[in-house]
Amino acid sequence: MNLLGNFINGEQLASESERQSAVYNPATGEHTLNVSLSTADEAKAAITVAQIAFESWSKVTPLNRARVLFKFKALVEDNIDELAQMITLEHGKVLSDAKGELTRGIEVVEFACGIPHLLKGEHSLNVGRGVDSFSLMQPLGVCAGISPFNFPVMVPMWMFPIAIAAGNTFIMKPSEKDPSVIMRIAELLKEAGLPDGVFNIVNGDKESVDVLLEDKRVQAVSFVGSTPIAEYIYSTGSKYGKRVQALGGAKNHLLVMPDAKVEQVTSALMGAAYGSAGERCMAISVAVAVGDIADALVDKLAEKARTLKIGNGAEKGLDMGPLVTAEHRDKVLGYIEDGVKAGATLVADGRDLQVSGYEEGYFVGGCLFDNVTAEMRIYQEEIFGPVLAISKFSNIDDGIRQANDCDYGLAAYVQTTNDKTADEASCRLKAGMVQVNGTSRAPGAPFGGVKASGCGREAGIWGIRAYQEIKSISGTKQQN
Ligand code: NAD
Repeated sequence: MNLLGNFINGEQLASESERQSAVYNPATGEHTLNVSLSTADEAKAAITVAQIAFESWSKVTPLNRARVLFKFKALVEDNIDELAQMITLEHGKVLSDAKGELTRGIEVVEFACGIPHLLKGEHSLNVGRGVDSFSLMQPLGVCAGISPFNFPVMVPMWMFPIAIAAGNTFIMKPSEKDPSVIMRIAELLKEAGLPDGVFNIVNGDKESVDVLLEDKRVQAVSFVGSTPIAEYIYSTGSKYGKRVQALGGAKNHLLVMPDAKVEQVTSALMGAAYGSAGERCMAISVAVAVGDIADALVDKLAEKARTLKIGNGAEKGLDMGPLVTAEHRDKVLGYIEDGVKAGATLVADGRDLQVSGYEEGYFVGGCLFDNVTAEMRIYQEEIFGPVLAISKFSNIDDGIRQANDCDYGLAAYVQTTNDKTADEASCRLKAGMVQVNGTSRAPGAPFGGVKASGCGREAGIWGIRAYQEIKSISGTKQQN
């Protein structure tokens, strides 16, 4: 069995750890690889390397740092097919989704290529008599990123392109469920001319993460993953004096107004609820239907959910692949059972899906629940599977109240043909991001949530701020 180690100081290194985690192809159930769960000493060694590399990398001009990223972007584009296949092989999502993930990552690299301008400070003349004041931005040092399984490239690419463009060095701790593709990304960074030690990968679990959280030499930690781990990362990282952003789980609602276009809502929901088998942080898992639109919507959605094309994501023409692991599939099935027992109406039932030729794969078909109420677990908890719940309300106030009555607050969506209603809902929905009549987002828009969805923002100028210290300098002019 192949064993994946670490990437430290520009080369792949075997780990000395005796602990390993198994990686599977979720479409076939085949055990394809083991990944090392690094020791604390290996994580410390990576920090030492990154700290040494920081001395020189932070002195490279922003322009020359950007030039490395320009080359890296071109290499990711040249190798996009191979990278997408690597994602699909371990995550299961369909190839078009995997390419979409890479494209979102490339957009962050494009943003980071503007670093010479993004690092400009401010200058104020005569803030006092003969006193000028200015600000400058300086890199922090060694930064670390801990990422979830559902975007094995895009989430790391929210983090490291901006961090290294800003002059920091980086240690990535990927998900142990799909760790291969980020190793290929590390090779492409090296090929693009990134000096050894600037970007490192430590594969592992809590043991190596704890080192990244506690070691004084790490200045900042970015985490994306589930809420309980986000809380642990936030409290531990801050206790050890680090700058921490910790993005957690989600349960995103779509408010559907009676004037919305049923076809448009159905199409948005099919992509956002079932795309990537629902394993997206931006997935819509509850549609809050206001007024009499609900029944027409349920009919259309049920028909489409029952006819989703599901199979091995590596094959063409599919809507959805398997879930990431057998354990996760069982968790999702457990939620579906729970919804049925709680009295919700399962109008599309994907529990018994069999994919011919892939009987050992971790598949669950599209599920649609009608008549879901707020006290049900399928309404409140993150399922992270192809399960959509419909809740019905008679007016916008109840709909918004209900959408807001949820611990999570990553994204909220609204579908309406009335622009005033859209503005009102956008202001009142308690979420870090609101999407009106669609699901696309501007590259570089701040990404993050409120409430149990964590704190901090990735991407755009907020990403730059996360990886920079801003220093204010004031000086009195000396008369000669
Ligand atoms: P997870 O929390 O299980 O794992 C995330 C990372 O934390 C992995 O690298 C994992 O190895 C590490 N980890 C796990 N347990 C740990 C522990 N006890 N101590 C230290 N590190 C630990 O999340 P996941 O299942 O990989 O990803 C799915 C979750 O991520 C969902 O909840 C989803 O909503 C969330 N997510 C959120 C966003 C966002 O922007 N808010 C984006 C993507 C995914």
